Amino acid sequence: MIKVEQLHKSFGTNEVLKDISLEIKKGDVVAIIGPSGSGKSTLLRCINLLETPTQGNIFIDDQNVTTINNRNMIKIREKVGMVFQHFHLFPHKTVLENLTYAPVKVKNKTKQEAVQIADELLKRVGLSEKAEAYPSRLSGGQKQRVAIARALAMEPDYLLFDEPTSALDPEMVKEVLDVMMDLAKQGMTMAVVTHEMGFARMVADKVIFMDKGQILEVAPPEEFFSHPKTDRAKDFLEKVL
Ligand code: ATP
Ligand code: MG
Repeated sequence: MIKVEQLHKSFGTNEVLKDISLEIKKGDVVAIIGPSGSGKSTLLRCINLLETPTQGNIFIDDQNVTTINNRNMIKIREKVGMVFQHFHLFPHKTVLENLTYAPVKVKNKTKQEAVQIADELLKRVGLSEKAEAYPSRLSGGQKQRVAIARALAMEPDYLLFDEPTSALDPEMVKEVLDVMMDLAKQGMTMAVVTHEMGFARMVADKVIFMDKGQILEVAPPEEFFSHPKTDRAKDFLEKVL
């Protein structure tokens, strides 16, 4: 389980996360939505230790990661995978090398083991035939599916997605959402920052609505989308639905 307790984050005098508390239970899919600048990415980046919280605690499987040393930080990063809006693939490595690099380097897999895992993952995301291609030869949707496969190659317990479909042409959104839906069905624990309300509605166990650094609502999707409690959420939904 991931547990965030009274998290605050400031950049200089700008407090962008204000008293955030939430739980992501094993097997849950949590959709995080809200207007631009509300702190969604910063929240994910704090959970993944890409940002240091100003105040508060984050527990990952009962380990307080806000007081962690470097060695344990590496272990946590293995447990918590991240998929970004702009893919962040290694441009000078093939698809297969993108998938095998970290497992060999960080997880001490043999090359052979890593290739076997990568082959299975590429099959799972429908890209077996692209194993030897370089990222520049892939469509956006293919790149994002490779990025998801690469995150999975580390065998994470949690996957964080930061607007995984926002940089994609509309016709490529579905192929990526389908992969994410499959993962959810297989029980992967996921936190997904998204503007895809259909996905949130269909796949999420819980929707978290953020505005101006605060969580304003936490509710099951059917409740959130049909009966948002705050004016801010009503207003937001009117604009995006
Ligand atoms: P979007 O939907 O546009 O991605 P968001 O909800 O992800 O927005 P964040 O990127 O978390 O929002 O940003 C929240 C606030 O923190 C913004 O005001 C942003 O300018 C500020 N911010 C984010 N990262 C930094 C940084 N590294 N240095 C200074 N300010 C930052
Ligand atoms: Mg963001």
